[in-house]
Amino acid sequence: PAPLSTWALNVSPSPTLAVDAKAKALKAAGEDVCGFAAGEPDFDTPAHIKEAAMQALREGKTKYAPTPGIPPLREAIAAKYTDLYGIPTKAAQVVVSPGGKFSCYLTILAVCSPGDEVIVPAPFWVSYPEMVKLAGATPKLVVATDATGFKLTPEMVEAAITPKSKLIILNSPSNPSGAVYTPSELEAITAVAVKHNLYIMSDEIYEHLLYDGVTHVSPASFSDAARERTIIVSGFAKTFAMTGWRLGTLVGPVAVAKSVAELQSQMTSNATTFAQWGALAAYTEKDKTQAALDEMLVAFDRRRKFVHGELNKIPGVNCLLSQGAFYLFPNISSFGISDLEFCERLLETEKVAAVPGSAFGTPGFVRISYATSDETLAKGLERFARFCGTL
Ligand code: PLP
Repeated sequence: PAPLSTWALNVSPSPTLAVDAKAKALKAAGEDVCGFAAGEPDFDTPAHIKEAAMQALREGKTKYAPTPGIPPLREAIAAKYTDLYGIPTKAAQVVVSPGGKFSCYLTILAVCSPGDEVIVPAPFWVSYPEMVKLAGATPKLVVATDATGFKLTPEMVEAAITPKSKLIILNSPSNPSGAVYTPSELEAITAVAVKHNLYIMSDEIYEHLLYDGVTHVSPASFSDAARERTIIVSGFAKTFAMTGWRLGTLVGPVAVAKSVAELQSQMTSNATTFAQWGALAAYTEKDKTQAALDEMLVAFDRRRKFVHGELNKIPGVNCLLSQGAFYLFPNISSFGISDLEFCERLLETEKVAAVPGSAFGTPGFVRISYATSDETLAKGLERFARFCGTL
């Protein structure tokens, strides 16, 4: 047969999903695996959200929905940005999609043409460069290591800009590093993007998973000029333990939201109708939602501190205490083997699954997801330490 397309030949499959799949296969084969690879809360979806989806099913809300989302959910999302972050937002600026991942892809498709450059800070979420390539654009990676807390400086952004630059992707709190930009750091980078007329895709999917009292801020909140070029992506997966529901959200200038909806109308029509009615309960029953979130945050924070403490006890491992998401990103470069070999041997010998930093554009690091039980973390870290002792 004829060769497949350049898109098919050039795309790299998601390495995080691959490591997780390998760990799950080992587990299914009876191995006692400690999985630190999945970017997924170990909690169940809050009961009131599940009940609202079941109610929607009982009521027959099982047909196509409007492409950009059911009106009350779009209204609720617009109200969230207006009330919580002081970003005046109308429902017409909101699009609900099947997953934050698809919201990101649609944003990139709506903004980028072939030949455009997209500034992607590394360590990056694995899908950004691949999505940029699928849009025919070119990812321009800018690497920040633990030396700068995994954060870009305005100077680093400035140096990466060319006449072809169209978009900068920001992701705070970050997957994989857990790093959170302070408002002033983010404001300085936003100013560079405004100055050079770039669009900003701000992936804020971990916006509520914050520790040590830090607060979330969006680039869109800094000025009218910033708001006019910022597309905020978020979703329900991480905050409300709803990874399998496949619901993402996007808020942007009306023209961008309209284009995104048009693209979506040709690709998937709409996000699952009864899932949207379920998600609406996250906003209409706010007290229950907050209680569920608070419970998760207590567990995540306890685990974050535990994992950070245990990792730094291991000679040769150096780990920053990041303040967001549910990831830590220790530096393992002192062992003199690649992060790929490190993770492969860690899984083979100790049955601990973690994702190599290379997958995120930063070799020498390992991503540990602490969105798993305290027992698994304790057991896995003991094995991790024993493995490091053999190197
Ligand atoms: N953005 C980031 C940074 C993520 O880590 C993820 C999930 O891993 C997503 C977006 C997409 O989430 P979902 O498609 O499950 O809503």
